[in-house]
Amino acid sequence: MGILFKNGTLITATEMKATDVLIAGETIEQIGENLPTANHEVQDCTGLYLMPGGIDVHTHLDLPFGGTISNDDFDIGHKAAAFGGTTTHIDFVVQPIGGSLQDGLATWRAKSTTAQIDYGYHMAITDLNDAVRAEIPTLLDEGITSLKLFMAYKNVFQIDDATLFSTMRIAADHGMLVMVHAENGDVEAALTPALLAAGKTAPKFHADSRPPEIEGEATNRAVVLAGLAQCPLYVVHMTCIPALEALRRGRDAGYPVMGETCCQYCFLSVDEHLAAPGFEGAKYVCSPPIRSAADQEALWNALNDGTLQVVSTDHCDFWYDGGHGPWQEWQEKTGGTNWADYEKQDPSYRRPGKELGSGDFSKIPNGMPGLEDRMLVMWEAGVNQGRISPQRFVELHCTNPARVFGMHPQKGTIAVGSDADILVWDPNLEMTMGVATSHMRCDYNVYEGMQIRGKPIRVYQRGNLLVDGEEWHGRNGNGRYIPRKANAAIL
Ligand SMILES: [Zn+2]
Repeated sequence: MGILFKNGTLITATEMKATDVLIAGETIEQIGENLPTANHEVQDCTGLYLMPGGIDVHTHLDLPFGGTISNDDFDIGHKAAAFGGTTTHIDFVVQPIGGSLQDGLATWRAKSTTAQIDYGYHMAITDLNDAVRAEIPTLLDEGITSLKLFMAYKNVFQIDDATLFSTMRIAADHGMLVMVHAENGDVEAALTPALLAAGKTAPKFHADSRPPEIEGEATNRAVVLAGLAQCPLYVVHMTCIPALEALRRGRDAGYPVMGETCCQYCFLSVDEHLAAPGFEGAKYVCSPPIRSAADQEALWNALNDGTLQVVSTDHCDFWYDGGHGPWQEWQEKTGGTNWADYEKQDPSYRRPGKELGSGDFSKIPNGMPGLEDRMLVMWEAGVNQGRISPQRFVELHCTNPARVFGMHPQKGTIAVGSDADILVWDPNLEMTMGVATSHMRCDYNVYEGMQIRGKPIRVYQRGNLLVDGEEWHGRNGNGRYIPRKANAAIL
C-alpha cells in the first residue's frame, strides 16, 4: 500500500503536466496517467500542483556569530523550513580556528541530533595548514563535497589568495566544489573605521562599508582563480551588477563557475529598508548588503538567463529586540553556557540580537530570517508576476541545488526511484507574510505584510507527512543526514 496523488499537475525542472504520482515507503514508485487506486491511500490533488521538496543549500542554524548565536536550530528551523516547502538544507560546518575539520564536524553533528528534515553539510575552512590540507580529501568519506572560504571578515574567517588558490587545486583534484563569500575584506576593514570615526554609525552605513565594487572585485578574483585552477566554483549570495558581470565573464570564458542569489536580494533595498528610520534598518543588515532596485532587476534577469543557478536564503536569524533576562546571573548560578538552556527557563528570555549594534553598525549581527519564506515569496514575485516559469522555479529551488551539490536524483526532482519528498502546492491559497504566519523563531519578518498566492498545503519527506495545513507531524530525529557525491554537475 502506497500513497497515490491523483489528478494533480506535476511540475519538474523540465515539464508541467497532469499526471498521477505513486509513492511506496520512502521513494517514488510510479508516475503516469490513471494509475489504479486499489490498496492505496488516495490523495485527490485536483487543482493542485505536485513539486519536489525544496532544497536550501545556504543556511546557518544554531551558529555562534557576532557575539551571539543564530536563533533557529535543527529543530525549530527545520519545522519552519518545511512549512515553507523546504525539506532538505545544507548547513555550514565551521572549522574552529586552530582546530581540525573533524572538530567542526563533531560540533555540527551534536547540533543535528534533533533534526526534523533532511540535511547535509558544507565545510567552512578558516585555518588552512598542512594537517587541514591533508584532511580535506577525507571529507569525501563523510559525504561532504563542498568547501567554503571567506574572502571577507578580516581577522575572523578571512583567507588570503594563496589559501584560496591552494584550496581550489586540492578541490579540483578530488572532484570537490569551492564556495566563496566574495567581498574584499581588506577594503571593508579600511572603510568601516573611517565611517564610524565620521559619526556614521547607523545601520544604513553598513552598505557604505561594503559597496558593490568590493563584491565585484572579489567575485572576479575568485572566478579567475577558479578558471586557472580548473576548479568548480560556486559564488554564494550574489547581490549586484558588478558581481554578476564578473560571473558572466567567467562563464563566457568556459570556466567552471556558478552562482546563487538569496531571496532577500530580489526584494529589499538600501533606500527602502536599510535606511529605515531609527534602528529599524538593523533588521536588514547582512553581508553582502542588500542593494538597489537596479540590482534587483539584474538578479531577476540573471535567474532567468541562466547566469545564476540557485536561489538560497543565507538564513541566519537574530532577535531584533533581544538580550532580555539575567544571563550573567544564570551563568554564575548554574555554570551553564548554552543559550538554549537559558532560554528554556523562561520563554520571554532572549539571547542578544541586533541591539548589540545600536550605536555601531559594525557590531550588528549579520543575517536575517528567510528559510521558511524563500519559496513562498519567490513563487509570488517570480511565477505569479511572470518573471520565471513554474519549471524554472522548481529548477532554481529544488533541482539545481541537488545537482550542483551531489544529491541528484535522490533529491530535487519527482522521478521514479527518487526520495518521496513532495509538496502538494495550492496555487490559489492566499496568505499574508509576517511574524503572525511564520514559524521561524524571530520577532520580525523581512516580508511583513506582503500578500502571496500559492503555498504548500501538505509536505512529505521520504513518504512521511510533515505538514498538513497548519499541523506539524514531524518528529525530532527523523531528519536524515544526506551524504553527497563528488564530481557533481557543473551547470
Ligand atoms: Zn552565509
